[in-house]
Amino acid sequence: MVIVGAGPAGCVTATTVDPRRSGLRTLILDYRRIVGVPVQDGEGLPDYGEMRRIVPGIDCEELFDFPAGIVRHRIEGMKFVAPSGRAYVGDLKGWTIDRDRLDQHFAAQAVERGAELQLSTRVVRVENGTVWTAGEPIRARWIIGADGPNSVVAASVPGLGPNRAMCRCAFVVVEGDFREDLIELWFGREWKGGYFWLFPKGTQANIGLGVRGRANPRELLDAALARLSRRKSFRLSFRGGGVVPLGGLKPRLANEHVALVGDAAGMVFPSNGGGTACAMLAGKILGETLRERRPLADYEQRVRKLLERPLARSLTMRRLLDVTFYRDGMLDLMMRLADHTGWRRFIIG
Ligand SMILES: Cc1cc2nc3c(=O)[nH]c(=O)nc-3n(C[C@H](O)[C@H](O)[C@H](O)COP(=O)(O)OP(=O)(O)OC[C@H]3O[C@@H](n4cnc5c(N)ncnc54)[C@H](O)[C@@H]3O)c2cc1C
Repeated sequence: MVIVGAGPAGCVTATTVDPRRSGLRTLILDYRRIVGVPVQDGEGLPDYGEMRRIVPGIDCEELFDFPAGIVRHRIEGMKFVAPSGRAYVGDLKGWTIDRDRLDQHFAAQAVERGAELQLSTRVVRVENGTVWTAGEPIRARWIIGADGPNSVVAASVPGLGPNRAMCRCAFVVVEGDFREDLIELWFGREWKGGYFWLFPKGTQANIGLGVRGRANPRELLDAALARLSRRKSFRLSFRGGGVVPLGGLKPRLANEHVALVGDAAGMVFPSNGGGTACAMLAGKILGETLRERRPLADYEQRVRKLLERPLARSLTMRRLLDVTFYRDGMLDLMMRLADHTGWRRFIIG
């Protein structure tokens, strides 16, 4: 089996397959030279209890039991800032993490269980059971597309197809005193169809924004950082970016020999862009299916049963927000209402 992508989706799949015990030879390919580097993430993660509230029926607590060095800061809630400047606080339990270390932890587990990890290897296409890279083509009975938002596997396989509704993001990691236990989300039309985030990490923060359409996220972010620097002192240590698929779960996740998982399958909450936990839990379900040599249709069925409704609700919420994102008055009103109906619904759906 070949897994394309050594992110959380690919590595949790490989660990669960448990190659040494199941006898299923598992090769993970990734074009990066170092797993998880560079980071392309806001580094916010719900804890397991929160994830169970959002996706009832999950059974993967062990995936959220991290060794020391991954979690940076405990998060107790979310601070929402409306276009009027009014701030609200909503409930959400989780952490901010070092995302590169999270990926490296999952990759180490996969290798420990007997998966082979080959870095610096870009997959260019997949065709009839063959994975094409710059080197020798690799034949595989199963091919797993865990290759993120711009999945080459999804694009190469008829019937699976690319993600839609991409949100372009820019972010920075800054050094400073960021010990608040609330993640901040700023809404308003100045964020061009997305939102601005500030995720405290203790002695660091991950600050960024995502935009829709043609706006330049980096320019917007620089302007926002210049404003922030007037009231808070910090030093920039890393600049990153990436895209988030906000189109919801794909209509098809697998055929007989190819399956998509994580961002490649559209497993991202469209109203907030969070997808790491979904990638982890879907990776476990896919790994179990493969290990037990069950058809990939079983994986699709199980993962749909869990994720379809929460992701569809979140997509509806995103569409509602799309209408208000450029109208500050409406957004203010919606946020006032959310303060009564609950912030989880506003941000998750
Ligand atoms: C800026 C930004 C901020 C985000 N913030 C958050 C957040 O705060 N919380 C949250 O939960 N989610 C967040 N997300 C989403 C989250 O990062 C993803 O949902 C999560 O990484 C999905 O994991 P994955 O394993 O499916 O894909 P990825 O983590 O993207 O892993 C895919 C892997 O495949 C490799 N790859 C891709 N193409 C190829 C190829 N052709 N050949 C070989 N290897 C390939 C890549 O190098 C990568 O290692 C954010 C995303 C972005 C871009």
